[in-house]
Amino acid sequence: MFADYHVHSHFSEDTDFPMELEIQKAIKLGMDELCFTEHSDYDVPTVVNCDYDAYFEEMEKMKDKYKGQITLKTGIEFGIQTHTTKAYEETFRQYPFDFVIFSCCLLYTSDAADEEDSVDLGCRSNIKKKKNI
Ligand SMILES: [Zn+2]
Repeated sequence: MFADYHVHSHFSEDTDFPMELEIQKAIKLGMDELCFTEHSDYDVPTVVNCDYDAYFEEMEKMKDKYKGQITLKTGIEFGIQTHTTKAYEETFRQYPFDFVIFSCCLLYTSDAADEEDSVDLGCRSNIKKKKNI
């Protein structure tokens, strides 16, 4: 099986790339399965967190439209911090995700993220890029 289980679309803060174009590209590449894992980062000063309702609505449309051409999965990438795990558990119970990635982009709280004493493991630069667009 040819699949990708870590793809972001315009529902994530780090890209404006439309979901449908990602799907069309995957089909063109001959993929069997594609799982979107949109970013969701609680307690981080991000400009966009995944709009779950809009995301699931769009995914249902895309699943119908591309049925028989590619299998689409609804995933999420939760940016975990120790104090936000409870909130992610609640979100996980509310929505029928097929796949979940837990990532760790910040080692300290979001309030410290823009300060010199925080440790950025890579995501902050993406968030700042998006803010500057
Ligand atoms: Zn990711």
